[in-house]
Amino acid sequence: MASDDLVRVVVDQELCIGGGICEMLEPEVFKLDDDIVISSVISDGLLPRDRAAVAVDRCPGQAIAIVEGKA
Ligand code: SF4
Repeated sequence: MASDDLVRVVVDQELCIGGGICEMLEPEVFKLDDDIVISSVISDGLLPRDRAAVAVDRCPGQAIAIVEGKA
């Protein structure tokens, strides 16, 4: 698959348990709020599919999802 195969990621803040693994992996896309300790997507949320899949896999709260379809 081409490296320009971008997908959009979203965070379900009801499921997020903090910790910030997503932010460590992709600081351009995820931001952990220091006050509420919940992550959200910053910027346009676009990542290459393989990196998005890593973020989904590594999220302990299963809070990150890939939104299919054109951005
Ligand atoms: S990795 Fe998952 S649980 Fe951890 S801060 Fe990010 S979205 Fe929340």
